[in-house]
Amino acid sequence: MVDPTSSLGDDVDEENAPECATCGEKIVQSPTHRVVTWVEDGTVQHRHFCSDDCRESYDAS
Ligand SMILES: [Zn+2]
Repeated sequence: MVDPTSSLGDDVDEENAPECATCGEKIVQSPTHRVVTWVEDGTVQHRHFCSDDCRESYDAS
């Protein structure tokens, strides 16, 4: 029996996966996925990273 409310997040595929802002890697259910959010011009912005290393590389550049 399929419960449609429990599948949220289980079916992320490469079509709608976010990309790492540093290396461009598709992030699919990665345990090291990091999201940085900030507010710019009154809008919440998101930036995705595949790992802490990529997040730090982005900050450093
Ligand atoms: Zn990356």
